[in-house]
Amino acid sequence: MNKLFKIISEIDRLGYKAYSRLKGSYTFPQFSLSFLKIQGDPFAPPSIVRITLKEEQHKYPKQYLKKELEVPLGDFILERFSKGLSQLPKIHGSGNSGVIFVNTNGQQLLKRSSFNLDGTDIELNFYFGLPANGRKINAKALTQMLYALKDIVENYVIFKPAYDDNLRKQINLFIDQEYLRSFLKEKGYIAFIANGAILPRASGQSEKPLKNAVPFKSPESLSITVDLPNSGPISGMAIPKGVTVIIGGGFHGKSTLLKALEKGIYNHRFGDGREFVITDNTAVKVRAEDGRIINNVDISPFINNLPQGIDTKCFSTLNASGSTSQAANVMEAIEAGAKVLLFDEDVSATNFLLRDKLMEKLVVKEPITPFLKMCRNLYKDLDVSSIIVVGSLSDYLKIADRVILMEEYIPHDVTAKVHSITGFESNTTNINLSVKSRKIKKWNKSFTKIKAKDQFTLYLDKDLYINLRYLEQLCDYGQANFLAKFIMFLSEKKITGELKDIVYSFWQEIYSQGFKILGVEPNLALPRWQEMAFIINRIPDIFITY
Ligand code: ADP
Ligand code: MG
Repeated sequence: MNKLFKIISEIDRLGYKAYSRLKGSYTFPQFSLSFLKIQGDPFAPPSIVRITLKEEQHKYPKQYLKKELEVPLGDFILERFSKGLSQLPKIHGSGNSGVIFVNTNGQQLLKRSSFNLDGTDIELNFYFGLPANGRKINAKALTQMLYALKDIVENYVIFKPAYDDNLRKQINLFIDQEYLRSFLKEKGYIAFIANGAILPRASGQSEKPLKNAVPFKSPESLSITVDLPNSGPISGMAIPKGVTVIIGGGFHGKSTLLKALEKGIYNHRFGDGREFVITDNTAVKVRAEDGRIINNVDISPFINNLPQGIDTKCFSTLNASGSTSQAANVMEAIEAGAKVLLFDEDVSATNFLLRDKLMEKLVVKEPITPFLKMCRNLYKDLDVSSIIVVGSLSDYLKIADRVILMEEYIPHDVTAKVHSITGFESNTTNINLSVKSRKIKKWNKSFTKIKAKDQFTLYLDKDLYINLRYLEQLCDYGQANFLAKFIMFLSEKKITGELKDIVYSFWQEIYSQGFKILGVEPNLALPRWQEMAFIINRIPDIFITY
């Protein structure tokens, strides 16, 4: 600590570059502080600082210091730390002088690089704009910032018995959510929505709950009760494996229900409304995505006999159509281990979902076998369930194991009534579906710079970009940053091998060892390994095939 303040006094008013002397670690009584990355200029992105607290310094009770509780514990500490930082007095100066912030979670609890539980040590990684007047070092302001930081750590980060209620509540909720996940898996359910859950969001741009929404209420026939370790018994709608079709009039809450299921792969925070909306964590929303790149994907179960004899067992394009993109999305989801596919008619290619009788008669040269025909095969041959929202395609009713009618935002089980009208057809086509894994064989190009501009856009070098907007289950800018770093890592090392193995083992490494392997970067958040595979599927210039 003395060493640090000595350096600071020596570099006062020198040119900004002299800040590089700060690089290193310093011991304070309450924590140790490391300058990991020093900005070269006051206008450059802020420097990166780490605070490490040992068990006897942070004082969090031992029962919370478990790797499997890292995410909820980290969330709690990050929220507090961020609150403390927001109360810092403003430091005036040029560029990013005095800018100090830490990345926190939104509504979903994610593993983030801003927090790390290393054994029983707690690490916080955050941005710290070293202060300057013009381009000259402002030592006085930096000293002020460091004293303020020390107070924040003492008052907001270090455990106080007064936090215990809230922290325990948060940890207990997380334990209940994880318990519910494994309970559902064990009993063969693919999703659960608790009675009282709030599904709609405040707006299309916000993940916050809608005020005065109609709370969810399960139909009697689909209701189960689960005894949670901390919250006790909760009841709600459980969706078994198989084919589930959701119908209802426009604006009655169908898409809202499906969107809640899409995000149910994550655990949500207190007050979100979706705390007990839990979906099989391999579930993938499959939508149309015309314009996307497709790299040697077998879409032949859905698309065959394309004009000019184009091969669909190993199909590539730089500009997919609605139906081919959705077919590729299905096959890639299954390749990446999805056991549940989620469809919404609103964002599907109609010709991918269905072909009506008259068209069948009139258009003989139709390359598409609609999903309607394959849906039960998927379940029978591959154990892949589907949940499909339809507003107008009644043909789906007779192939459904369950039909749920949304009316005034409340679900009703209308399976028996519907089947008494349509009958039930559980028979499948005579195709025996299988999905093979592809291998990354070669990186045709080394990317020099990959960057996430925002949550929805990745830039590769200068001229290429990948649109992440249609990977609807991503939920955080940090995940986009992570994906950028991940591709960079693979491309630098020119990693080859089975796609699924590569993404899964990388995911596993981060999950257990933290983000170290990707360098010093406080704004990373871990997505699922499914999304890591999907990003590779959208990169041009790699050779990936069966
Ligand atoms: P659909 O897909 O059936 O046409 P949506 O799911 O898009 O309908 O919902 C229509 C509107 O109703 C949206 O603005 C949505 O936010 C709102 N909404 C959905 N569920 C509820 C609810 N439980 N309570 C209040 N409003 C809701
Ligand atoms: Mg809709």
